[in-house]
Amino acid sequence: MAYTALYRKWRPTRFEDVRGQDHVVRTLTNQLNSDRVGHAYLFCGTRGTGKTTIAKIFARAVNCEHPVNGSPCNECPTCRGILSGNSVNVVEIDAASNNGVDNIREIREEVKYKPTEGRYRVYIIDEVHMLSTGAFNALLKTLEEPPEYVIFILATTEVQKIPITVLSRCQRYDFKRLSLAELKSQISDLLAAEGVEAEDTAVSYLARQADGSSRDALSLMEQCISLYYGEKLTYDRVLDVLGAVDQTVFSSLLRCVLSYDVQGAIHVVDELLSTGRELTQFVSDFTWYLRNIMLIQTEDPREDVLGISRENLFMMKEEAGNMDINQVMRYIRILGELSNQIRYASSKRVMLELALMRMMQPAMQDDLDSILDRIRSLEERGVASPDAARYDAERMSAAQPAEPVEQRTIEVTAATMEDCKLLAADWEGIVEEQGRLLRSILVGTRVGVSDNDSLSIYFKDPYFFSVADKTGRVEEIREILKNKYDKEFRITLKCLKVNEATPRAVLGKTIPGIEMEIEE
Ligand SMILES: [Zn+2]
Repeated sequence: MAYTALYRKWRPTRFEDVRGQDHVVRTLTNQLNSDRVGHAYLFCGTRGTGKTTIAKIFARAVNCEHPVNGSPCNECPTCRGILSGNSVNVVEIDAASNNGVDNIREIREEVKYKPTEGRYRVYIIDEVHMLSTGAFNALLKTLEEPPEYVIFILATTEVQKIPITVLSRCQRYDFKRLSLAELKSQISDLLAAEGVEAEDTAVSYLARQADGSSRDALSLMEQCISLYYGEKLTYDRVLDVLGAVDQTVFSSLLRCVLSYDVQGAIHVVDELLSTGRELTQFVSDFTWYLRNIMLIQTEDPREDVLGISRENLFMMKEEAGNMDINQVMRYIRILGELSNQIRYASSKRVMLELALMRMMQPAMQDDLDSILDRIRSLEERGVASPDAARYDAERMSAAQPAEPVEQRTIEVTAATMEDCKLLAADWEGIVEEQGRLLRSILVGTRVGVSDNDSLSIYFKDPYFFSVADKTGRVEEIREILKNKYDKEFRITLKCLKVNEATPRAVLGKTIPGIEMEIEE
């Protein structure tokens, strides 16, 4: 069966059918009913919230021969002409592709003439922020003295780019993103009208993915029902179509992060990739999952507010109970940064893994949240060592300069070749003493000494090398060695080239070529 685009099919043609913009609709219909229509409107707001839809309804309403409560009748010849796109009275311009001064001059020529039929000539300029400076100036001249039969409706997603001179000439309307409940009711109604049966969790998921945009809700819904046409829309099918992940994956990943289980987390990412999941989407879903955990911590929301099933809510409550809110907020911030970077990154997997490492390793971050988080992790492991406590105290004092903190001064001299050799002999033991995360990064590394008395740490595994390199481990290691030897080591991280790598089992304790350097 042929399938018409839902977005077109269900685009509202009357004010009553527009969702989520009651404040805009009310003001506009009041103006229409009292015959006090303005000449310049500015519609601002996120994409897919109904700006052009309302502009088009308004354009018909001002010209309609028999309007009904402010809405166009959509049946009179004028309405029909506009609906079919044959009327010269309503002109839609996409400023993204017609942004020059000439395009606007053309309009200024046209508006000199009264419309031959209907009362108003309406210009809808979409993405108006794309106009060039010259075009804005030309437009401003028309806005300053508009003929009484002309209405401009400017629509934009980026109101901050509109010159103040233009803003001051327009009645401004801010379109809001649709709430989860509004989107859910929109989707449910349309599914019912299409005769498609759907699970409640499926509807919630679609609403959440639409992220405030009515248009996105429709196009996502369309993707799902066109693939499973005539079948019931289940949660699983929606996940399948949108390439999303089941909640249990988030849960297991979060549990790995909370228990500092690096290998476990990497394994979860492995499985995700093996099932062909899109990592950008995954990051956004995982962020949402944590946002829900935060909601659970602060209030006691119902499962439909969160858009999840009762079983999942139960599972999440358990997780929420094991975390404190600062920790969750820190995770959300890390993922927020990640989702900005990952979209265009070529190595999405490495970036996701690095972010997971950052979540597991609070010591890398300087903000107060991560200090609290670090103290929590130390307490949990029962290893609140004096060093770690001092480290935290120093960082605390950086964050809160008013608090005087006792400082321990160490005499530190630069490490010599002899010190480096001593350290090389101890290296394996030093690695063993470290916390779980640093240990798992450093296990299997070897140290070598260069002629300029600097220490090189050699990684066999490019992955752990990049983790150590990108998360600033050098500083941490330098600090550890300084405390241990009272010496300042110059450290470089190096990764062995692929053809130099030897399987761990064969390698034993030495890396050919490096051992010699150490022994000189
Ligand atoms: Zn009409």
